[in-house]
Amino acid sequence: MTVKKNKAEKQSNTDSGICVRKNISKGELVVVEHPLIKHKITLLRNKDTRVNVFRDLVEEVSTLIGFEATADFPLYEVEVETPVAKTFGCKIEGKKVAIVPILRAGVSMINGLLRLMPLAKIGHIGIYRNPETFEPVEYFCKLPTSISKRAVLLCDPMLATGGSAVAAIDMIKKRGAKNIKFLCIIAAPEGVKMLHEHHPDVKIYAATLDERLNDHAYIVPGLGDAGDRIYGTL
Ligand code: URA
Repeated sequence: MTVKKNKAEKQSNTDSGICVRKNISKGELVVVEHPLIKHKITLLRNKDTRVNVFRDLVEEVSTLIGFEATADFPLYEVEVETPVAKTFGCKIEGKKVAIVPILRAGVSMINGLLRLMPLAKIGHIGIYRNPETFEPVEYFCKLPTSISKRAVLLCDPMLATGGSAVAAIDMIKKRGAKNIKFLCIIAAPEGVKMLHEHHPDVKIYAATLDERLNDHAYIVPGLGDAGDRIYGTL
């Protein structure tokens, strides 16, 4: 099979036309708006949604966000032979992907993203907040090899204060990653601002942008504690 690069094909779309770009900070926030996402978010918000349904919905929404977050992956042209004729098609250009969830809630987004990119490698990041200093402390970091050459999809369902996201990006950048996107299900304006103040190069993809944080740093209206609802530890 002939494989040749085509300059025109390398200019892939930057989005699929179902998203809204919101300018609430220096960086870019893409809110992936689609009737299916809105429907599923409403089910996720409902306090009576059961744990099995909640997990499935997180996976499904992650797939839909992942679809948008990969819309700028460059393509190259290939020849392909159908049972009827030879034609040209496209393949994704050697983009190696690392899916990196922030423990523990981020793990729930892995399967939804793997459905789109089954060969992606997975990293893990563990961060906790020091109860005295409130500083984020790294307790685990295992990333795929050649992280500097990979497109990193960092994920955590809730972007609340932004503290963990900033610390996680610091950790990944320290290990060489350059191309990082942050994927979440619900973002708070406070978290978006904080993340973009520290890392304006990191584009954020969210299924919805909520109103605010409450005094306990929960997102309002949000969906409660994502980790507890996913793992049934309420
Ligand atoms: N983490 C959660 O799980 N929920 C919030 O509302 C904020 C942070």
